[in-house]
Amino acid sequence: MTPRRKSRQLRVGSVAVGGDAPISVQSMCTTKTADVDGTLAQVYALKGAGADIVRITCNDVEAAQGLAEMMPRMPVPIIADIHFQYRLALAALEAGVQGLRLNPGNIRDPEHIKTVAREAKDRGVPIRVGVNAGSLDKDLLKKHGSAVPEALVESAEKEIRYLEEVDFFDIKISVKHSSVPAMVDAYRLLAERVPYPLHLGVTEAGPPPGGLIKSVAGISTLLLEGIGDTIRFSLTADPIEEAKAGRQLLEYLGLRERKGLDLIACPSCGRAEVDVIRVANEAQKALEAESIPIQVAVMGCVVNGPGEAREADLGIAAGRGRGHLFVKGKVVRVVPEAQMVEALVEEAKRLVEEGIDARLAAADQDAEAIAQAAREELLEIQGDANRVEIKRRAVAEVAAPSE
Ligand code: SF4
Repeated sequence: MTPRRKSRQLRVGSVAVGGDAPISVQSMCTTKTADVDGTLAQVYALKGAGADIVRITCNDVEAAQGLAEMMPRMPVPIIADIHFQYRLALAALEAGVQGLRLNPGNIRDPEHIKTVAREAKDRGVPIRVGVNAGSLDKDLLKKHGSAVPEALVESAEKEIRYLEEVDFFDIKISVKHSSVPAMVDAYRLLAERVPYPLHLGVTEAGPPPGGLIKSVAGISTLLLEGIGDTIRFSLTADPIEEAKAGRQLLEYLGLRERKGLDLIACPSCGRAEVDVIRVANEAQKALEAESIPIQVAVMGCVVNGPGEAREADLGIAAGRGRGHLFVKGKVVRVVPEAQMVEALVEEAKRLVEEGIDARLAAADQDAEAIAQAAREELLEIQGDANRVEIKRRAVAEVAAPSE
């Protein structure tokens, strides 16, 4: 992974963005902002799913009033999303939001932008310059012919100049495009030209799984190059899915510490002794309900399972009507197949409470021997899928000196 690009740090309320701050996860409410109870409930759910910062539209006076009413009860910093009407940015600031997002494509009067920046500066509130290929400034669209990466970057730079002219530097920038290659190129270009933190996203990515794939492709490519300070998956789905996906992506890339479960499972094959898909889904549901922050493996057979998943904190592998529970690759307990998920959840809880060494020390003495017997029995019945003995003999024959 390329070392992270150095960006100027700012704060969105209690969350630092840029510099060496952890990369943050954002999402956006889909409720009507005037619906105070509904919006608050969604913000709390988004926080629970992994969002560090939540954006809420401020599209009319009722929305601004809703923000004013709910701001004191917000569990995470709130960014007001502003389009067309700069006065609503002033209203959102008055309501107490911790961040603003302005779209340069539709708030175009420099004096209006500067008025908002002066007010935001007085209140210590950062502004995201949120360029979007779909709503690019018409003059730039004409100049470049289409929303090419250079056009997105030029739009951002133009807006940044207005902000800097009034000594406003608490700036974040996004240059989102619905095309993954165009989005990646736009951010790469921008990263070389400005010192500000970057908010990554593929715009209008669509419903999962396509939307997820596009977002992961674009955001991961940049993060692995050290570019990006805060991210948002723009999915046509429940925003809870956006927040979860954002958080999971950062955990999988090793950019945030594991807060949730990391369930790994074998893809299953002809050797599987159990319906791996069903067991993995049941285990995921049960372990997520307990918010257990460890890596758990569900493997279809005891022949290869514990060995292949030896890096997992905990796992279970099926074989001969039983579940073989293993900790760091060592089988610690054997349970009836029907109790696999239940036993896995119980062991996961104990592992979190007592630690890996304690659970290894508490292993059933005969568990490893039972697993070994099941392995041998399965190999006898199914044969050695890797045909190790046949291959060894063939290699020896080839290597033997000829007469
Ligand atoms: S663990 Fe067993 S069932 Fe799963 S893919 Fe590997 S060999 Fe097949």
